[in-house]
Amino acid sequence: MSAAQPFDGPPTFLPDSMLPADGRFGSGPAKIRQEQVDALTALGRSWLGTSHRQAPVRRVVGELRAGLADFFALPDGYEVVLGNGGSNAFWDIATSCLVLRRAQHVVIGEFSAKFAAATTAAPFLADPDVRRAEPGSATTAQAAQVDAYAWPHNETSTGVALPVQRVAGTGPEALMLVDGTSGAGGLAFDAEQADAYYFAPQKCFGSDGGLWLALLSPAAIERAERIGRDGRWIPAFLDLVAAIENSRKDQTLNTPALATLALMNEQVRWLNENGGQAWAAQRCASSAAIVYDWAQANPLTTPFVAVPAHRSQVVATIDFDDSIDAAAVAATLRAHGIVDLEPYRKLGRNQLRFGLYPAVQPDDVRALVACVDAVVEHLP
Ligand SMILES: *Cc1c(COP(=O)(O)O)cnc(C)c1O
Repeated sequence: MSAAQPFDGPPTFLPDSMLPADGRFGSGPAKIRQEQVDALTALGRSWLGTSHRQAPVRRVVGELRAGLADFFALPDGYEVVLGNGGSNAFWDIATSCLVLRRAQHVVIGEFSAKFAAATTAAPFLADPDVRRAEPGSATTAQAAQVDAYAWPHNETSTGVALPVQRVAGTGPEALMLVDGTSGAGGLAFDAEQADAYYFAPQKCFGSDGGLWLALLSPAAIERAERIGRDGRWIPAFLDLVAAIENSRKDQTLNTPALATLALMNEQVRWLNENGGQAWAAQRCASSAAIVYDWAQANPLTTPFVAVPAHRSQVVATIDFDDSIDAAAVAATLRAHGIVDLEPYRKLGRNQLRFGLYPAVQPDDVRALVACVDAVVEHLP
């Protein structure tokens, strides 16, 4: 790469011809396609910087909500709801507005632990029933005396994916709250199996962060309305009923980032035009197969997730032999413009983490693993 290249780090040595066409392999924020940026630029003077209460912006929000309903083949009565604050905000919203007395949480990494911490801290809820598994492994929810079950579709910190499936032996009182932040858009599932399936734009939907979106079942909407009526104090910003009412009007409670909405709408349109959820999931699976096959064939690398059925098709975590410094590999890749393969900071493993969302081209993943091999060979 030329001396003017913008990336920090050790000297570069890989020839340009070896590099992936796009070097963004982060797990979020993740690759935004140039076509999305171009579409945003085209909206420049007429749309960006205009009121989110007026028709042009509301049209985009409406298109986005309809596009997602299409993409997820949303069952009758389900609604696409959105608001500001990202998935972290939705944990507090769900704690305030969806859990009646007690939740069960599957905790298999940093993100699932954070939601469990939120319901644990809530003074109006009983301590949750927490089902933990070691990082890199999986466990599932089990019927218990709770009114909400929470688990991640894809635990981004470890690269473990779980099925989206109603917990057996539970009644209609039990809500299924699934964190789809990094799974949504890349892992296929049946929306009917969750009551609140929530996510954010900066992973498979290749946009900027800051928004939360949720597919809410009639039971989830009813629960939020009931808790609202019961008189629990809910901070206005966390009021899910207000978010539902605003979303029905293609608005948000307070001002959203217009650029994020436009970028995400463009990505959902692209996904739907290409074949929707099935196509996207297939593309991610192809990318994941390249990484896992490479890691298993290479004597210096092992997939961190031991059980193949638990391995995520959107975030692949690969451990390196102690003789290789994975952080040095990541730094060298970064110098070449191949970025964000560093593992989740708190996991503390000698690892690379590959974000394989639908925007990433499988051909680029093929080029990437060849570059990793070349860097490993070149390291002292
Ligand atoms: C990224 C991520 C989050 C956090 O999303 P924010 O929009 O930054 O709040 C939550 N859960 C999972 C599974 C994630 O991957």
